[in-house]
Amino acid sequence: MKAMVLAGPNRPFELTTRPDPLPGPGEAVARVISCGSGLTIQHVKAGRRPGVKFPRIIGHEITGEIVAVGAGVSGLAVGDAVTAYYYLNCGHCRWCLANLEPLCAHSGGNVGLDCDGGYAEYIKLPAHIFIKLPEGLDYKEHPAEIGVITDALATPFKVLTRARVRPGETVAVFGAGGGLGIHQVMMAKWAKARVIAVDTAAEKFDACRKAGADAVVNPRDGDVVGALKDLTDGEGVDVVVDYVSATATLEAGAKALGRRGRLVTLGGAGQPFQASAMDLLHKEQELLGSRYVTRAEILATLDIVARGEVWPLVTDIRPLEEAEAVHERVERGEVIGRAALRIA
Ligand SMILES: [Zn+2]
Repeated sequence: MKAMVLAGPNRPFELTTRPDPLPGPGEAVARVISCGSGLTIQHVKAGRRPGVKFPRIIGHEITGEIVAVGAGVSGLAVGDAVTAYYYLNCGHCRWCLANLEPLCAHSGGNVGLDCDGGYAEYIKLPAHIFIKLPEGLDYKEHPAEIGVITDALATPFKVLTRARVRPGETVAVFGAGGGLGIHQVMMAKWAKARVIAVDTAAEKFDACRKAGADAVVNPRDGDVVGALKDLTDGEGVDVVVDYVSATATLEAGAKALGRRGRLVTLGGAGQPFQASAMDLLHKEQELLGSRYVTRAEILATLDIVARGEVWPLVTDIRPLEEAEAVHERVERGEVIGRAALRIA
């Protein structure tokens, strides 16, 4: 098969011929139709993600069709249209059995980091990592959009539950111009919240407004906390979702919360920060982490797209051979929404 291989960190992709994968017991192989190209995997390519063993085929936001299943596999058959779960969860521990797979106690890591991923004609995974696509998703016509749902759209969908976003609440999204941030704007609007997009990339504000942002705030223009207070009659916002998670954004986000406000971090820079214990007390505020998304939440997100209620924003779709150029744009932050590679 054709595969885009990374020989090491911070190296260009190499278009390589690899043997077609064969499924062992409990495994399945899918023909990859498309694969999303987000910042998460660009971090791997750029060498910012420790612990990855090279050579490696990256990519996890796939749309594909099952071409072979190994011994003992049930519930998956040749011809099934699939996408993939990003975490190699065990499926058997107390967290997996509680439908909280991102917290798996025996995780094997991630698709495209700890095993080969979707930047190739075929992908082999443990069968339970594949997720069958529901009826009503035209994956043949829109494979790139369907493929990115499992991360770019489902991760923001999960945040709505984690932060208990209710209709009419005000949600500020820090890093709203990024690939996940803009889908968070979209999903918060879908949840009938009032959405404020916060980003330093003013050129992305038009896209944020199109995705549903009611207001935009650029921290480069001055006091972001004051701006968020001004937009909420001095009360503060109900929810901050921080995709940047640098010390400055986390501390601004915590200060911008109102009564019963919730701050959600999804990692990002993952820096330490200070918050006021007195504000947490007096205003009954909460600081939360949200990690990826459960399988059930992915199924719910696929259904939302199948019903036509939201549509993933993929603005740059190119053949596998142009992976290097796509990743250069991802690195420079030039992509609006998501980019994706078309493989079949
Ligand atoms: Zn588990």
